[in-house]
Amino acid sequence: MRNKALPGLVRHAKPITIEQKKLAPGITAEAISESKIVISKDVPKDSELYKRAIAHEGHHAKEMASGRIAYGDNFVRDGDQVFARGGGKIQQGSVWKMEGSKDFPWERRAYRAEEDV
Ligand SMILES: [Zn+2]
Repeated sequence: MRNKALPGLVRHAKPITIEQKKLAPGITAEAISESKIVISKDVPKDSELYKRAIAHEGHHAKEMASGRIAYGDNFVRDGDQVFARGGGKIQQGSVWKMEGSKDFPWERRAYRAEEDV
């Protein structure tokens, strides 16, 4: 996971590269950076799931590009809020929740983006 976005930097829309590869069981897709999304090779290109995955992860990638969110190995930053991250989970308040949980505001925004598919 890397994030090259720096506050105050002028950002340009970059084309997003989509790669299909073997992902861990249960993982459909992942935004690797502001310009790269990976989708499980088990998801057929002509499926609804594929389109939704691109809408969802594309939204994360765009937010990384704009600086609205940032991912580090042990944190996620959403706006000016920082959440601890580790072992596939993210801490919200005193509770550790699975990454991708709709309880996180950035995930709710990405799930909303899927509805336009
Ligand atoms: Zn997500």
